[in-house]
Amino acid sequence: MPLPQILDGKTLAKTLEERNRLRVESLVAGAGASVPILATILVGGDPASATYVKMKRNACRRVGMDSRRIELPEDTTTAQLLDVVDGLNADPDVHGILLQHPVPAQIDERACFDRIALRKDVDGVTTQGFGRMAMGEHAHGSATPAGIMKLLDHYKVQIEGRHAVVVGRSPILGKPMAFMLLNKNATVTICHSRTRDLPELIRQADIVVGAVGRPRFIQGDWIKEGAVLVDAGYNPGPVGDIDLEAAAARSSAYTPVPGGVGPMTIATLISQTVDAAERYAGGSDEI
Ligand code: NAP
Repeated sequence: MPLPQILDGKTLAKTLEERNRLRVESLVAGAGASVPILATILVGGDPASATYVKMKRNACRRVGMDSRRIELPEDTTTAQLLDVVDGLNADPDVHGILLQHPVPAQIDERACFDRIALRKDVDGVTTQGFGRMAMGEHAHGSATPAGIMKLLDHYKVQIEGRHAVVVGRSPILGKPMAFMLLNKNATVTICHSRTRDLPELIRQADIVVGAVGRPRFIQGDWIKEGAVLVDAGYNPGPVGDIDLEAAAARSSAYTPVPGGVGPMTIATLISQTVDAAERYAGGSDEI
């Protein structure tokens, strides 16, 4: 077996970032356009979420965009968070809204995600955006799976006609991932905690996506020789959801952890915010 190809998200994200920086530069130079602004909402004190938001705000700065930081206390109610989202929807200076997942348990996260105006849903979390994407209509994609699709496209990984097995069905990762692969003509199997014979299903996969949230859960001997491995997991270590030490050697290509999917998520969020700002500057109310 030849050595597997590394699907290097860190390097591709840097390339996208430079492209976004140039796009922002020319946008701001245009008559009447303002610096694009991403509003970030962090509810509660979860340190991992705080780190993710900080990384996203730093990424805004690197491309010449501004971000507006909104931090709300742990005991925020659904009604209070909906009010904040309404305010940002109505603010013409804000081009994109990121509500960091997860929010504290007392909040109806789905209701708050769905309150985000479609054209400002640059993280791709709304039901309407998901539905449009699933139907093949234009929408901002959910940032992590959309970033994975960019990475697969960049490395010219063949998707059409191949069997993709997505392990995980969360609204922001597994489900949109499955539809994005389906829309590129993969044959898709979606697995979850009630799936029977998971190793057998994964052994049939040409493309495996790990989106489980359990460190090194997908074992090396479950992997078919030559499969492409996409590890979306990010667990302390950091390690992914696939036991890459054992699995990578059997694969034809794999995303490393760190340096694979993570940087692509942020680069995609920024790209989609610039998309939104460009459309706004062009006078379009479309998404
Ligand atoms: P999640 O909401 O907890 O969903 C986990 C999914 O895995 C669920 O669908 C669950 O099934 C399934 N699952 C759990 N145990 C399983 C088992 N034993 N067998 C098969 N499926 C099982 O997690 P998430 O938000 O999708 O995140 C998944 C991973 O991706 C995490 O490691 C997270 O840190 C990472 N992530 C990374 C990024 C990034 O930018 N790099 C972004 C988002 C998430 P049920 O539906 O049946 O419960």
